[in-house]
Amino acid sequence: MTTPYWIAGRPAHGSEVLEVRSPHDGSLAGRTTSATPDDVETAVAEAARVRREFAATPAHVRSAALDTVSRRLAERAEEVAALITAESGKPLKWARLEVARAVSTFRWGAEEARRWSGTLQRLDTDPAATGRMALVRRVPRGPVLGIAPFNFPLNLVAHKVAPAIAVGAPIVLKPAPATPLTALLLGELLAETELPSGSWSVLPVPNEVAAGLVRDPRLPVVSFTGSVPVGWSIRESAPRKHVTLELGGNAAAVVGPDQDDEKSLSWAASRIATFAMYQAGQSCISVQRVFAHRAVAEALTTRVVEAVQRLATGDPTDPATDVGPLIDEAAARRVESWVDEAVAAGARVLTGGVREGATYAPTVLTDVPPTAKLSCEEVFGPVVVIDAVDSLDEAFDRVNDSRFGLQAGVFTRDLQVAFRAAQVLDVGGVVVGDVPSFRADQMPYGGVKDSGTGREGVHAAMEDLTEERVLVLTGI
Ligand code: NAD
Repeated sequence: MTTPYWIAGRPAHGSEVLEVRSPHDGSLAGRTTSATPDDVETAVAEAARVRREFAATPAHVRSAALDTVSRRLAERAEEVAALITAESGKPLKWARLEVARAVSTFRWGAEEARRWSGTLQRLDTDPAATGRMALVRRVPRGPVLGIAPFNFPLNLVAHKVAPAIAVGAPIVLKPAPATPLTALLLGELLAETELPSGSWSVLPVPNEVAAGLVRDPRLPVVSFTGSVPVGWSIRESAPRKHVTLELGGNAAAVVGPDQDDEKSLSWAASRIATFAMYQAGQSCISVQRVFAHRAVAEALTTRVVEAVQRLATGDPTDPATDVGPLIDEAAARRVESWVDEAVAAGARVLTGGVREGATYAPTVLTDVPPTAKLSCEEVFGPVVVIDAVDSLDEAFDRVNDSRFGLQAGVFTRDLQVAFRAAQVLDVGGVVVGDVPSFRADQMPYGGVKDSGTGREGVHAAMEDLTEERVLVLTGI
């Protein structure tokens, strides 16, 4: 059976078959087809045609649709999680978590759609505006092109779709080539709603076609989550569009000198181990760099290595598995070559450092030179680098010594250190008492520097997808 794609809310099939295979064992996860040029044109034309109608749909209709999707996702959670695992190789335990997060992302969308309102501004503080007031509302900037990466095939799609529907902006969604099936299943749930036809499409298309959509003036908003080079090239090729970029990073955790008791050390070590290796490190806020104060560095490193060695690596369909394969063997080979490069430059592997097919063993290193790719690029693999520092100021400088800036984690009990971190770290968010990988789906989320521009998180994305429109009333 071939899974349909979705054109203006209706299922469709093309002639070019795309086979989606598990990175774990090559088994067939499913088949779909690439959207035909005519279908792509219909999706865009329909999005443009319904833009005013959709913006005017009552909030209760948009909210109810998002509620339906949330509920149906919860009802089909096991099936959806199994599909995420099958197509991406993400361990089932993490796929289940992703589905639970998407359930709440859509529920937040439903709630925010009901709250979304405007303000009344008096203008008569200015003598020239006596007798006037303004209604200020945020209206959609226009139909949205949503482009999603492979590493969260459902929840990062949800972060494109839910805010767009919540504000009444039509969306044309392009899922990642490696993981289109989950987004297409989400299409089934959207088709169960009362949303106007034309307000949404899900199109598996090659990157050249997606690049054409980026330039299409009928889609004035581009919401992109993916890699740094592709993201910034999109920004350059669409200078007049509103472009949101959620890109990569090499997130860091700082461990302060006050974490020297067993409870604090164990907590920091287990969080670092789990969220450096979570999804085989294929998360944009995976812990890649750790700067531990010299007072705790040795004890922390021992515990991180022990915690990493306790992780179960293997078959992602086994609910006990913590770490599965990377998205493909080429990705695992790249990680291997970066580790080899660091070792040749003097780094020491404390555990891991071996590859089998697409699986790279969870790896901890120390003494990695700051110029090695493992220090300065995004590894996007199950690798963490631990360094001792002499002061928190040195740690914060090292965190900032990066072209990326998504989130940072700071393990400390000292409130002043927490405030200082929030002040001096060049990142979109600082997480105190935990790893940088913490994200709640309703909080503003995004990066600075090469890591992107704009914010997601349901409410923040709704602001991003809209602009203020003023209605001035005279004679009142
Ligand atoms: P990628 O950039 O290769 O692909 C992302 C999407 O862009 C895919 O759908 C792809 O088909 C599409 N694409 C590729 N070239 C294109 C072009 N020229 N025009 C239009 N679309 C194009 O990224 P990926 O490998 O799928 O995802 C991994 C990257 O995503 C990592 O760098 C990771 O850090 C980043 N990421 C960021 C966040 C965040 O919220 N900041 C979240 C998850 C992943």
